[in-house]
Amino acid sequence: MSKSFSRRTFLKGAAAGVAGVAAMGLAGAPVLAEEAESWDLETDVLVVGAGGAGVSAAAEAALAGARVLVLEKAGLIGGTTNFSGGVMQAAGTKYQKEFTKYQDDTPEKHAALWIKAGEGTVDEELVTDLANGAPGHIDWLADTCGLKWTSLYGHCHIPYVEEELMADRIHVYEGGGGIGSGGIFVRATWAVAEANGAELQLNTEVKKLLQDADGVVTGVIAEQDGKELRVKAEKGVILCTASIDHNLDMAKRLSPQQYYDLNNSTVMSAATDTGDGIRMGMEIGADVSGFGGCIDFCAKTGAATSNQIPLFPSFIVNQQGLRFVCEDATYAYHYRAIFQQTVALDGPTYMIFGNSTFSDPATVWTEESAKADVEAGALYTAETIEALAEQIGVPAANLKLQLDLWNQYAAAGEDAQFGRKTGLAEITGPFYAYKNVAANLGSLGGLKINVNAEVIDVNGNVIPHLYAAGLNAGGWIGPYYPGSGTAVMGTVHWGRKAGAAAAAN
Ligand SMILES: Cc1cc2nc3c(=O)[nH]c(=O)nc-3n(C[C@H](O)[C@H](O)[C@H](O)COP(=O)(O)OP(=O)(O)OC[C@H]3O[C@@H](n4cnc5c(N)ncnc54)[C@H](O)[C@@H]3O)c2cc1C
Repeated sequence: MSKSFSRRTFLKGAAAGVAGVAAMGLAGAPVLAEEAESWDLETDVLVVGAGGAGVSAAAEAALAGARVLVLEKAGLIGGTTNFSGGVMQAAGTKYQKEFTKYQDDTPEKHAALWIKAGEGTVDEELVTDLANGAPGHIDWLADTCGLKWTSLYGHCHIPYVEEELMADRIHVYEGGGGIGSGGIFVRATWAVAEANGAELQLNTEVKKLLQDADGVVTGVIAEQDGKELRVKAEKGVILCTASIDHNLDMAKRLSPQQYYDLNNSTVMSAATDTGDGIRMGMEIGADVSGFGGCIDFCAKTGAATSNQIPLFPSFIVNQQGLRFVCEDATYAYHYRAIFQQTVALDGPTYMIFGNSTFSDPATVWTEESAKADVEAGALYTAETIEALAEQIGVPAANLKLQLDLWNQYAAAGEDAQFGRKTGLAEITGPFYAYKNVAANLGSLGGLKINVNAEVIDVNGNVIPHLYAAGLNAGGWIGPYYPGSGTAVMGTVHWGRKAGAAAAAN
């Protein structure tokens, strides 16, 4: 933003702001009034960010007949959604009936699972709305966007969630499921938006929201080719810039796990996801919700990412050489525990396995790959469990005790400690230890919204004409990611809801 414009905006804001502040009842909230003739571009619905939420919002608003403009910071559309597998959760669809044994699953059960996994921190109304909307989005993506659903699977269990709430709900479309195939969904949905008149400007970073004297969001200031662009949005601005993934400062303040990952792990989401929409919302008084967690998993082993793939014989120990979590509980659940133990005991956790593990059909390790990893310094090995304990610096007696316990549970066919469901088989030496390192698929938490995807301010009031969708919005996922397919379904749901609501203004 140029200095001259900042000053001009400030002066206008100062003059008009008094009335605006009074109108909103928010002493001190920034209110920036703009004159209509000074806009560079005008549209009805302005979408900020062209990831999964952005293209869904654009398609819905364009289908509703609104003029739609999408501004995207990167040089291509898709954001993190491009990198994703594009899989999406929904309950009770015709595809679930066709491809799985779950013939009477319902959105109610789906919502109940998400609410329980939310551990009291989610907005139950939002979660219920998402679960109820999901089956319709699966149909919309097929009928309107042309995706072909070809299979389903389920996520791994969550220790305190009842078995009857679990089902195979993760929908996979043709060509989807692998890293990078989320682009198929993005391109298909954007094609619908474009065919209905939506326009896109790439390499355009939105910097600031503008409001009129009544607090209604009227547009944005963006930067394009080093120049300032002032864009008017007659019907609303929809923030779709994801969470605070690559913003170290916001992560430090809002999300210890994301902050830890930014410093110690690989954060795989789009580098342009720096929490801009959340910062811009907060700047005009928006509340936030759902911060704290993130989507962590083990990229090396893919442990507990799918209920179709059992976890191989192995267990995870902390600095005390003791187990602390059910290893085949859904990945972000057990990785949250890994994060907590790592910081609580100030040292890494390890996955322990043995030579016997190589013969398990589900294992990702082979003797050759293990040998190569040992040589590369990525894996520890020793003939005895005590010698392995010494290598990784945990109490040998504890690790020996833990191994003996594990082998007793394996012999009995029941894990009395943590209820492990798969891979409960004897582990014999030589032994191996792999230091757990999270791969991070994005941060959770965003602006507080209602079921219309309207952004709510810190006093509980709607900020008129401001919407947030996808991971830019918070409160609809709890303190850890409950399972694959939640996020992308959330981009479609909140994107479409925001697009419809804005277009209707
Ligand atoms: C490898 C990987 C695999 C995954 N697989 C799955 C999966 O299969 N299923 C699932 O549910 N979830 C999956 N996830 C998580 C999921 O992909 C994301 O949570 C979700 O796609 C985020 O969507 P979004 O629309 O909120 O954000 P994004 O898709 O990240 O879109 C945000 C966009 O906003 C743009 N932007 C940012 N700031 C600005 C600004 N100031 N001005 C303009 N534009 C801006 C960004 O450039 C970006 O294009 C995966 C994640 C990763 C990394």
